Amino acid sequence: MASTIAIIGSGISGLAALKCSLEVGLKATCFEKSDSVGGLWNFMEHAEDGRASIYNSVFTNACKEMMCYPDFPIPDEYPNFMHNTVFLEYLKLYAKHFDLLRHIQFKTAVVRIEKRPDFATTGQWNVVTEHDGKQKSAIFDAVLICTGHHVYPNIPLQSFCGIEKFKGQYMHNRDYKHPAKYTGKNVLVVGLGNSGADIAVELGRTAKKVVISSRSGSWIMSRVWDNGYPWDMVYLTRYQSFLSRFLPRVVSDWLYENTMEKRFNHSHYGLVPVNKSLRKEPVFNDDLAASITCGTVTVKPNIREFTETSAIFEDGSVMENIDVIIFATGYSYAYPFMDDSIVKNDKNKVSLYKGVFPPKLEKPTLAVIGLVQSLGGIPPTSDVQARWAVRVINGTCKLPSKEIMIDELNEEEGDKKNWFGRSETLSTDFVTYMDELSSFIGCKPNLSRLSLTDPKLAWEVFFGPCSPYQFRLHGPGKWDGSRKAILNQWNRTIAAMRMRVVPAHQESSSIATLVKILVLPLLLLALFLAWA
Ligand code: FAD
Ligand code: NAP
Repeated sequence: MASTIAIIGSGISGLAALKCSLEVGLKATCFEKSDSVGGLWNFMEHAEDGRASIYNSVFTNACKEMMCYPDFPIPDEYPNFMHNTVFLEYLKLYAKHFDLLRHIQFKTAVVRIEKRPDFATTGQWNVVTEHDGKQKSAIFDAVLICTGHHVYPNIPLQSFCGIEKFKGQYMHNRDYKHPAKYTGKNVLVVGLGNSGADIAVELGRTAKKVVISSRSGSWIMSRVWDNGYPWDMVYLTRYQSFLSRFLPRVVSDWLYENTMEKRFNHSHYGLVPVNKSLRKEPVFNDDLAASITCGTVTVKPNIREFTETSAIFEDGSVMENIDVIIFATGYSYAYPFMDDSIVKNDKNKVSLYKGVFPPKLEKPTLAVIGLVQSLGGIPPTSDVQARWAVRVINGTCKLPSKEIMIDELNEEEGDKKNWFGRSETLSTDFVTYMDELSSFIGCKPNLSRLSLTDPKLAWEVFFGPCSPYQFRLHGPGKWDGSRKAILNQWNRTIAAMRMRVVPAHQESSSIATLVKILVLPLLLLALFLAWA
């Protein structure tokens, strides 16, 4: 039975992995190559090799009730969407609260992990670390990889004809930090993901000209959603997930497209996705439409060809005199410290059972935390993954046979492509995924029991936001504060915005909200059931 565990990285995922390992009594050591916790959320003025790198103006795109660890709410006084420095403070509070720091070896990089010769019977790993230029090797019963997946830039130069002729500067967005040095310049941003949109909007305020080239468009969502609530409090609910899974695809696609088009007509702005029903990650940007309508950002199609100074787009239009091209073309991932055939399938793609366990290992003593991407925040996802992983490692939970895991993976691969498109990371539906993993541990919210014993809570769990607290309501790792946190989540959200007292007689009516959020969808459901 495993007793020692190595955790690589102390970002969101590494901290969750460390805390969950200690929770089940494992002797955990976390290795972190930098000098601090927080991973990607540690803004640095210069990108460092092998570490995530963000720009100064990054804010969270999930709100605080949805982007917290399930047993540690974000402080009341923090805003709903947080600047990276504020969110980093939260991660530090978490590490301190659960006394994690003394288990972390900072400035210590894991340079190699290898199966021990007797792996087939022991499942043990040799972990080689480097600190101050000196290498050390130690044996661990298990390893959790928490090294992040927004680290290695994807610059698909081979897709861009003539780029070798271009005389100006080009770079990946991980090297973009501040807008100041682009003042007065002509900037082309390639890619309409969250990075591309944020950077284009920011540069649009001071650059001479900013163009975004998008090969397939994107839905643009606002952080500020129905009635001013954070988008994810309204949209990421069990009820919405139920509708999208059980309504006929044509109806759920229609509902999805309508939701995405609610704020503005995407085709009028040249943003509409080529495949409108694909659930690829939307862009969260409150200012992009305003920048387009004010003329500070222009959207163009894919690039046909570059010349020495210009880009020719697929519609034949040209952007002349480009000073800088910023490739906001996403990331690919790598595990340079291990033989990556452990996590890759025969098509050379990372393939993990439930996004966590390599299916072909003789012993399930290695897991990857934080690689799966869904619309939900990473902290609850990494928390549930880590809780499950440590229980598989200590033998409390069992994995199916290798054959069953591989069959399931093959089946899921087809379904996911159909639903999420060509995303590099392992995309999934947040509620479905969280429910599946929490059911393995025995902490999935039991709605039928709750509706008999605590109907008020059951209502909020089903119709309200699928907030992280739901996954620590009961079962192993139960947190006594969950019920209160769930029932107070709306109040905390409002309190984080309302700093001026509003007398009761001036309050807007909440009836309209209730009708929109609950009654209309219920009517739709009733109509559908009657029709079916
Ligand atoms: P990371 O934060 O990348 O941490 C990995 C850690 O591992 C680092 O500290 C690194 O130093 C360490 N490490 C790496 N290799 C080694 C090694 N060999 N040895 C020792 N240590 C090592 N997600 C959200 O949920 N909400 C958001 O709002 C959000 N915004 C984002 C904004 C941007 C610009 C980007 C790029 C991503 C965003 N994400 C967001 C996704 C983001 O990846 C996650 O929020 C989160 O940071 C992932 O945490 P992690 O711990 O898995 O990885
Ligand atoms: P991304 O989501 O992967 O987007 C990459 C973009 O590049 C897509 O528009 C993609 O187009 C395009 N692209 C890729 N290869 C291309 C090619 N060969 N030719 C033309 N276009 C190409 O990357 P990202 O925007 O950096 O985001 C990475 C992650 O960080 C996401 O999870 C995101 O949510 C997160 N993030 C969050 C924030 C925040 O506000 N908190 C800010 C930035 C990033 P297709 O769509 O056609 O594939």
